[in-house]
Amino acid sequence: MKTALVLGAGGFIGSHIVNHLKKKGYWVRGVDIKKPEYQETQADDFLIADLREQYNVRTSIDRKFDEVYQLAADMGGAGYINTNLYDADVMHNSATINLNVLDAAHRRLVPQVFFSSSACVYNEELQLDNVNPDCREESAYPAHPDSEYGWEKLFTERLVLAYNRQHGMRNRVARFHNIFGPLGTWQGGKEKSPAAICRKIAYAQKDDEIEIWGDGEQTRSFLYIDECVEGVMRLMKSKTFEGPVNIGSDQLISINGLVEVVAKIAKKNITIKHIEGPQGVRGRNSNNELIQKMLKWKPNQDLKKGLTVTYNWINEQAHSK
Ligand code: NAD
Repeated sequence: MKTALVLGAGGFIGSHIVNHLKKKGYWVRGVDIKKPEYQETQADDFLIADLREQYNVRTSIDRKFDEVYQLAADMGGAGYINTNLYDADVMHNSATINLNVLDAAHRRLVPQVFFSSSACVYNEELQLDNVNPDCREESAYPAHPDSEYGWEKLFTERLVLAYNRQHGMRNRVARFHNIFGPLGTWQGGKEKSPAAICRKIAYAQKDDEIEIWGDGEQTRSFLYIDECVEGVMRLMKSKTFEGPVNIGSDQLISINGLVEVVAKIAKKNITIKHIEGPQGVRGRNSNNELIQKMLKWKPNQDLKKGLTVTYNWINEQAHSK
């Protein structure tokens, strides 16, 4: 039986990766500083531990796991990473976790660690145009991410790949672009735009107004969680391709457009009040040429399909309290 360790297994993507690995027949240990909020963990073993502490990381990686999925990070949406309020925490906490994890995995001869980097590594100057942002993987250098969160991710990408070169590991790096779906944070300040919009519309009346940060013409692409998990598994299976590679949708949409899609799903007549707030870069889209070339696959599910499942889940959460 194959064994896997999922770090950040109390979080959104970590929970889904645990569920997927269990379906594939793995023995899974999950670790997080908290339990999953919205479902019982499916992991065989679940440790509550602060991975900033080296001792806890070494205790978590107490054997030669076949695969380690490193998803634990101090992160959130624009209201968390683009406000400058938490920058020292974001950098210190995530970098400490990542340094500890790579060291402990190497000591236990773990062959493969997956690291979840982010579209936030991309150069701010290449994302000023909301219609044609440039997020080809090689455009990340020369580096100029728009947040400290992005700088930490770039540092760790380099760390993870340095372990491949120096210690012959087969670590893999993906840059996620706005992953969404059920079990994701939808309130409290760390939620991302699809979840925040779904929540606002779930609480809205049939004819109502919701607030959106900025003019709403900033663009992004959003990837449903199932396709994210599939991309991760394909990258882990790849014999030679280590990444970094984008795992994201290339269906670009403005935040105003996203509101329109969710309002239609909810069958509500929603108008938008634009207010001041953090917006991040002007435009960002996943460029999927490299993933198609190297993994012979790219995400292709229509945005509306995943948003319908996600809206229904958040609507249920919002009205069950
Ligand atoms: P999440 O916040 O739901 O999950 C992260 C988990 O890490 C949380 O459960 C949190 O409790 C845990 N964690 C934080 N500090 C910890 C500590 N000191 N010790 C132990 N656990 C700790 O976020 P997510 O959306 O599931 O993201 C998973 C990974 O993917 C992160 O590395 C994130 O940066 C990356 N990523 C996510 C997205 C996205 O759109 N969701 C986009 C780009 C990158």
